[in-house]
Amino acid sequence: MQVITTKQELKQRMQACKQEGKTIGFVPTMGALHEGHLALFKRAVAENDICVGSIFVNPTQFNNQEDLIKYPRHVEKDVELLASIGVDFVFAPSAEEMYDANEMTQTFAFDFQGLDSVMEGKMRPGHFNGVVQVVSKLFHLIMPTRAYFGEKDFQQLAIIRYMVTQSELKNTFGDLQIVGCPIMREQSGLALSSRNERLSAKQKNIAPIIYKTLLESKQNVKSHSVQETQNAVIQQLNNVQGLEVEYFEIVDKTTLLPTNTFENAIGCITVWCGEVRLIDNIQY
Ligand code: AMP
Repeated sequence: MQVITTKQELKQRMQACKQEGKTIGFVPTMGALHEGHLALFKRAVAENDICVGSIFVNPTQFNNQEDLIKYPRHVEKDVELLASIGVDFVFAPSAEEMYDANEMTQTFAFDFQGLDSVMEGKMRPGHFNGVVQVVSKLFHLIMPTRAYFGEKDFQQLAIIRYMVTQSELKNTFGDLQIVGCPIMREQSGLALSSRNERLSAKQKNIAPIIYKTLLESKQNVKSHSVQETQNAVIQQLNNVQGLEVEYFEIVDKTTLLPTNTFENAIGCITVWCGEVRLIDNIQY
């Protein structure tokens, strides 16, 4: 496996692969890899001639400096893991290599048609601008055949799917396939996340209640309204000492807009467990 740190080398390597007629599977990450990430990589390795991953803690998608500073980083361990499962290239640039100075400070403008005005977008202003900025930059450099994203970040997946349908990018990326992959969980049910590394032993015991409550809420489908289910989940979780719900919204899976039916619905949640922000979702 080769570790690449410059955009120029990445571009050259990818162009060479393309000229040889090889298919390229790409998995963007912020590192601190766990089994959730590895599931994406294993699929990309299996479905493509070449598998490329990126490890880059993207500063432009953080609206909270403390979260950015405390984000776990262990690139060497990540690189070893990726080599062991057959990944061919890892792109791990510095922020200075990735962005020109003006790109770091100016907001990247993109019309999300409202997909960014709810849930994560509402709570983390500018977050998805940063995500789309870095992902489109990586797509331009790599020109993948398929790109793999986790359903854990459901809104992000919806936004990336939308992004590649937009005229300018559609022309550039041709028939790039965006592949959504299911959420991987710990045995306790807690969704795997790099941020779980920041949970204390005590917090690790209460965090699984989030998924347990979401699962139980599926039983409401026949007997309760969407609004009642939403309120019940929020109340139950806020009753747990050490957990605080930031939002729980049951929305339409396609438009991400609030819905009053469980058909094609997904419940997306963000919960603070102490200082750690955890996200999860459940499909009804
Ligand atoms: P991140 O490093 O958190 O930016 O995540 C990189 C990719 O891995 C994103 O597409 C995430 O949705 C995906 N991912 C993160 N955690 C999980 C998980 N528990 N299960 C499946 N995919 C995940």
